[in-house]
Amino acid sequence: MKTQRSAELFAQAQQLIPGGVNSPVRAFKAVGGTPRFIARAQGAYLWDADGNRLLDYVGSWGPMILGHNHPAVVEAIRAALEEGLSYGAPTEREVRLAELVREAYPMVELVRFVSSGTEATMSALRLARGYTGRELIVKFRGNYHGHGDSLLVQAGSGLLTGGGGTAKSAPSSAGVPQAFAELTLVADYNDPEGLKALFAQQGEQIAAVIFEPVVGNAGVIIPTEEFLEALHRLTQEYGALLIADEVMTGFRLAKGGAVELLGLKPDLVCLGKILGGGLPVGAYGGRAEVMRQVAPLGPVYQAGTLSGNPLAMAAGIATLKTLFQDPPYRRLEAYGKALQEGLEDILTYAGLPATVNRVGSMITVFFREGPVRTYAEAVASDTERFKAFFHGLLEEGVYWPPSQFEAAFFSTAHGEAELEQTLRAAQAALTRMPA
Ligand code: PLP
Repeated sequence: MKTQRSAELFAQAQQLIPGGVNSPVRAFKAVGGTPRFIARAQGAYLWDADGNRLLDYVGSWGPMILGHNHPAVVEAIRAALEEGLSYGAPTEREVRLAELVREAYPMVELVRFVSSGTEATMSALRLARGYTGRELIVKFRGNYHGHGDSLLVQAGSGLLTGGGGTAKSAPSSAGVPQAFAELTLVADYNDPEGLKALFAQQGEQIAAVIFEPVVGNAGVIIPTEEFLEALHRLTQEYGALLIADEVMTGFRLAKGGAVELLGLKPDLVCLGKILGGGLPVGAYGGRAEVMRQVAPLGPVYQAGTLSGNPLAMAAGIATLKTLFQDPPYRRLEAYGKALQEGLEDILTYAGLPATVNRVGSMITVFFREGPVRTYAEAVASDTERFKAFFHGLLEEGVYWPPSQFEAAFFSTAHGEAELEQTLRAAQAALTRMPA
């Protein structure tokens, strides 16, 4: 496969942009090789700068559940474009998108739009601290909630693949003051006893627990019922807020995300990715009593020049309306099941120790014996094997996320032909690998 143009652009980019990329995982540091510079996208496919067509399992890291360039989304953006790009004043589209969010998440009585998932989680934490008058927050090892200072502590995603400081120390990025990190307590995912012990020690000072309701940022990890039950019980008992970070899972796992799928009762949810249909949108919302603390109603300040941007709102409205009109979740589940079973068969045939974790349209192949239920189990995967898998797929025209510790996503544009191509590519990649 020709990669000359991508290589040239990467060389130029490295002279101008740190590492040649504007978000670390894009640099292929974990897998080596030349990152593909993308020229355009349509449906389930990307075309790189050398003209190679790639079957896309990154989906812009989650937003593209309808596939690239869905006509309803493109048309909505075009219509908004004709009316001006940004006003810094309220618009009807913000009201319409807020209605759609509440339709999917009835517990979200009030919602505030921001421009990224990072802003959503940062703001939700500030709100939780303002509301409770407490300072400590709890997060889980290997969960990623964006790059806010308080949350870059034992974080997943790019931090697990050499994007920042060390994943083992707290904080996990240089530049995060130790004093901030000390206000962030880190617990183990799927460890209800550990969480209980933490609350027994410091529960009265904990403002909030933030969690990925299905982990995507250490690869896919599925929560146990006992863990979810402990989260609800302990936060209620100690008066801490429970914040479900649905930036990745919202509108992906069900119309009402993991909250609906798993029957969760968080106090606040954070949204992003699909909410903006490919344009920059995040949101946080929840019970009115809590959200009324946000400025201008309350003392918790949060603002944004481009918050509620008309183009971004238009893309979000079109995406959610399309999803709600003809919910694709059964079809995505069927595709996912076939993909998972196909991959498992090929892995078994190739004699490779691996386990495939999947919820709906989020999937990870961990190169180690299963089960993978914890961060420690995920990071014990064979990343050399993953590298070979990744490059093997890419050689066959399948663009998988360039890290063992990320979820792959597929979309409503992935059909029979794409499933077949993926399994053929996986067979070629895996059977070439030494057992
Ligand atoms: N929360 C979760 C669960 C995420 O997966 C991400 C991004 O991957 C974020 C928050 C941060 O979102 P953004 O990259 O839009 O700032």
